[in-house]
Amino acid sequence: MTQQQTGGDVRLTGISKTYGSFEAVKPLDLTVPQGSFFALLGASGCGKTTTLRMIAGLEEATTGTVSLGGRDITGLPPYKRPVNTVFQSYALFPHLDITENVAFGLRRRGIKSVKKQVDEMLDLVQLGDFAKRKPHQLSGGQQQRVAVARALINHPQVLLLDEPLGALDLKLRRQMQLELKRIQTEVGITFIHVTHDQEEAMTMADTVAVMNGGRVEQLGAPADLYENPRTTFVANFLGTSNLIEGEIVSAGTDIVVAAGGGKLRLPTDRCTAPTTDGGKLLLGIRPEKISLAHADDADAIADGRNRVTGRIVDSSFIGVSTQYVVESPAGKALQVYEQNIERDARLAPGAEVVLHWNPAHTFGLDAAQDID
Ligand code: ATP
Repeated sequence: MTQQQTGGDVRLTGISKTYGSFEAVKPLDLTVPQGSFFALLGASGCGKTTTLRMIAGLEEATTGTVSLGGRDITGLPPYKRPVNTVFQSYALFPHLDITENVAFGLRRRGIKSVKKQVDEMLDLVQLGDFAKRKPHQLSGGQQQRVAVARALINHPQVLLLDEPLGALDLKLRRQMQLELKRIQTEVGITFIHVTHDQEEAMTMADTVAVMNGGRVEQLGAPADLYENPRTTFVANFLGTSNLIEGEIVSAGTDIVVAAGGGKLRLPTDRCTAPTTDGGKLLLGIRPEKISLAHADDADAIADGRNRVTGRIVDSSFIGVSTQYVVESPAGKALQVYEQNIERDARLAPGAEVVLHWNPAHTFGLDAAQDID
């Protein structure tokens, strides 16, 4: 399959949507680089579908502009935009076979000889053997792939995907995530994918925009968002974060924070809170970055690591890791995930422990953020 014609970056400038007095999407600026797999991620009602529909032209923007490759397309009706949308409901025609479903866009444009292009699309989505079946003779995942083929046959410059995997069971969903990623790499056009599933966004997208309350809260590569969340919402929405309240003692290359009955450090460049002495902040640390030592073995912990004492209140073995809940002076119960622990070495509830981690993995958030 040759790469399709690409159309340049999608640029949203001051785009917003208001229903009555309700701002579903607050004015936002966003650039989706050409050829990227871009995810709009957020909880139900955060405005991600509305944003997608404004790009498609299915929803009129209250303010702002949408451009593609520098061309303003804000005023164009959906069918005149070089974009196509795949919805969660596949919206296939039940009485047409798969070939005719995929050929639909070509036929509508008056193109008679469709076989070569349809075959190419069915190969792309690996459904070449199913050309003569009707939609009801296909599985959910296969139907979804037909919907993708049908959307791609007109060579859009951007493919918009609105929760396309929402109706599939978990296992199929995981398979289709990889499949869509493969298809995107093969055709090379921009995919903009709406989902509420953080794992899905992180698996598929090279850039993720995390939306909350009609705003983009943070934008970045999945690993960046995970490792350097800038707000408590992002820290909690993408995976699990331990957030420990603290007060800044001194700020230099490292910030020293009084927290959890001791002093903890974090790199200054990983802190989004104001760094004035005496200022309050939240220290974040991911559960898998923490190690546990029995209190009796605390002397063996290397110098320079952040430490918090605690007592195990719960432990569960979930195959890939052992997950502990630890009560500590750091406030709320802390979560710790440890991998590769021998069965005998697992710590039991009631054990007095020291949690310790590399300060470089700590991030600092503004405790006064008006979100969540
Ligand atoms: P979901 O995952 O549930 O689809 P979403 O993040 O995609 O959520 P949107 O569909 O963009 O959210 O909706 C954003 C907000 O705008 C919601 O609070 C929704 O109720 C509201 N909304 C959407 N369409 C309309 C409409 N036609 N009239 C009034 N309010 C609307």
